[in-house]
Amino acid sequence: MDFELTEEQRMFKEMARKFAEQEILPSLKENERQEIFDLGIIKKLASQGLLAPHMPKEYGGLGLDYVTSALIWEALCMASLSITQAAVSGPIQPATNLLDAGSDEQKNKYLPPVCKGEKIMSGAVVEPTAGSDSSMIETSAVRSGNHWIINGTKIFITNGEIADVVLFIAQTDKSKGLKGLATFLVEKGTPGFSSTPQKGKISWRGGSEGTLRFTDMEIPVENQVGESGRALRDALRGIDTARLFLAAGAVGLAQSCLDSSIKYAKERVQFGKPIGGHQLIQEIIADMATKIEAARWLAYRVAYLKTRGIRHIKEMSYAKYFATETALWVASQAVKIHGSFGTIDDYPVGHHYQDAITATILGGTAQMHQLTIGQQLLEMAAFK
Ligand SMILES: Cc1cc2nc3c(=O)[nH]c(=O)nc-3n(C[C@H](O)[C@H](O)[C@H](O)COP(=O)(O)OP(=O)(O)OC[C@H]3O[C@@H](n4cnc5c(N)ncnc54)[C@H](O)[C@@H]3O)c2cc1C
Repeated sequence: MDFELTEEQRMFKEMARKFAEQEILPSLKENERQEIFDLGIIKKLASQGLLAPHMPKEYGGLGLDYVTSALIWEALCMASLSITQAAVSGPIQPATNLLDAGSDEQKNKYLPPVCKGEKIMSGAVVEPTAGSDSSMIETSAVRSGNHWIINGTKIFITNGEIADVVLFIAQTDKSKGLKGLATFLVEKGTPGFSSTPQKGKISWRGGSEGTLRFTDMEIPVENQVGESGRALRDALRGIDTARLFLAAGAVGLAQSCLDSSIKYAKERVQFGKPIGGHQLIQEIIADMATKIEAARWLAYRVAYLKTRGIRHIKEMSYAKYFATETALWVASQAVKIHGSFGTIDDYPVGHHYQDAITATILGGTAQMHQLTIGQQLLEMAAFK
């Protein structure tokens, strides 16, 4: 067992930390207030090679292992998990799905521009009636000669409104249930395809999500990705990578909350001494640090297993579930330590608290990961 980071890993972590400080933090407050996702972040990340660290070099990534990629994601999310997620989600989820299931032609056409920040790609699975349960997907794909006719709605899709290309899952044969699902690509501007931004958000306000509508949308058969019936299986590595991103990102978010809390607890004087000198505050700080350290090593360990191609279903659920729940708890304690100042956006902890709530939902809710762990340990599913 080796707990040391390599020189290269330390270098990438430091690079990402500096990027977060110089490029994400300065505009964060204003963008959040105005609900603006700063698209420029994508190109800036790409110019430093940080947009798609895990993707192969031939498709515009850095070809790094998952531990190094996780270190980069952790450092970026110390500034903002929501903004980092909006920036890197294309290369992480839909692009990885395309890498696994796409034809050479599809991969050569879409992956390099997405990994270099020239095009934005979204991955669309969730619908008004199909969240955790993909068997409820109603978006239909009907074959007509050399085309597929698509009808349906996708919601809460990261970058859905601004995407140049969307990888989505639709039902080709309802009688087959999950085995009828297939994956397709559609480009912006295709007749019958429209999108609107998600409004009224209470968190992730500097991120970007949208609703997609497909109305008698015709796409050529060449736009199908992989075989019908394999959509969920083909999506697995992309979903798994998104979960690793969220686990590592939640650790970064929580670490930022701890750093801010320690600084504040040393400076804020009440009852004649810095609040950090009160035993009850020290108890909270100690619990924060201990939980963050546990979450960090769950995330690094699953990144290690993933890099080596070792089966890691329950380990990924341990990491995503524990890291995001820890981030939520740590951020809520950080807000309390900052008192009233924690409730305004002059300090990072309020932003992190809002991000942490949402991080427990996307990439599989806490309950879905508990059920996955239960299924793996008990060898029986509670959710079928
Ligand atoms: C910021 C953001 C970005 C997103 N980006 C994307 C994207 O790019 N692409 C995409 O496809 N989707 C995206 N989503 C959607 C996200 O994946 C879903 O919200 C998530 O999968 C949960 O689905 P749901 O919200 O419909 O909740 P539901 O599945 O309806 O769950 C509601 C509640 O019921 C619980 N629950 C459900 N089933 C069970 C059960 N069997 N046992 C116990 N409890 C249960 C859940 O844990 C949850 O607490 C995004 C969401 C957000 C907020």
